[in-house]
Amino acid sequence: MADGCTFERTAQDGKARLGRITTPRGEIRTPAFMPVGTAATVKAMLPESVRATGADILLGNTYHLMLRPGAERIHNLGGLHRFMNWDRPILTDSGGFQVMSLAELRKLTETGVTFRSHIDGSKHELTPESSMEIQRLLGSDIVMAFDECPALPADRDRIAESMRLSMRWADRSREAFGDRPGHMLFGIQQGGLEQDFREESAEALRGIGFDGYAVGGLAVGEGQEAMFATLDFAPDMLPEDKPRYLMGVGKPDDIVGAVKRGIDMMDCVLPSRSGRTGQAWTRRGQVNIKNARHADDPRPLDESCSCPACSGYSRAYLHHVFRSGEMISGMLLTWHNLHYFQELMGEMRAAIAAGQFEAFEARFHAARAEGDIPQL
Ligand SMILES: [Zn+2]
Repeated sequence: MADGCTFERTAQDGKARLGRITTPRGEIRTPAFMPVGTAATVKAMLPESVRATGADILLGNTYHLMLRPGAERIHNLGGLHRFMNWDRPILTDSGGFQVMSLAELRKLTETGVTFRSHIDGSKHELTPESSMEIQRLLGSDIVMAFDECPALPADRDRIAESMRLSMRWADRSREAFGDRPGHMLFGIQQGGLEQDFREESAEALRGIGFDGYAVGGLAVGEGQEAMFATLDFAPDMLPEDKPRYLMGVGKPDDIVGAVKRGIDMMDCVLPSRSGRTGQAWTRRGQVNIKNARHADDPRPLDESCSCPACSGYSRAYLHHVFRSGEMISGMLLTWHNLHYFQELMGEMRAAIAAGQFEAFEARFHAARAEGDIPQL
């Protein structure tokens, strides 16, 4: 572990792990869900509101921030924490995944990726070395190694080739990161759904040595069943005494299934993005606030939820402000969704501590099976 940072596991129930990561910027309770603050903001939320939902750490996107406003500029303005007014831990991705999904005219070589910005067409290059430098300029607490990941399905040759390139880049990332007390570097396991490639990747990463390990290359179109089948073996290949991070996951049932399989950290745009499109997540599943059935409904979204949207507003109001295109709609639904995701993490942490994860999981699925409250 990097100096100044620790990871302690305090309980385990089955494969589900309870713990905490300590950094100079604060503690991260695990299993942890990280809200995504793509462009130095969790959209529609003030940082103190994000904190009030229970988030210990945010994710920032290197690709977006390097293009606008630029990593140098953020560095000159005191770093990402000060820039966005969030003083707790921040994890940044390496930019690799988003270059592949967003940038134009990409060219992949052994050195790295050259591409054109999706914003203004300007030309850029990302390499393991430049990704480490950009993440250093941002001041990220948890830095991700630079990697490449094919969309699934892909054939075995393509998956192997891509994974081996990512492992060479992981080595270069480690070298370029150097020794930075108080900051952690995570390696990323690749290998698609293939057990042998996952093992080869894990072995390469263990040989290099990281402060934490991500399971990458999932949630890219393979579906939940295939993802869980891979998570049945992939996390076990990574060092037990280091945090394990599943990138880009997910829906509440994905999150519960991942924690059950030994994952400690996750991130997803889902709660914030769906909050802006009128979708709410509750313990009874998904609610579409656009639906006319809510127009006269004086009840809260979820009577057991203590978030501002549920304690102060009716379904009828949430329906009205969404239909009217009012900004408060995205604000309230995002707050509720982030609150729900953090409550879910808290419930899982309590269940693991009590050795009751299985009972928790049964309750979780039973509540969802009931579906939303009946129409009035
Ligand atoms: Zn709520």
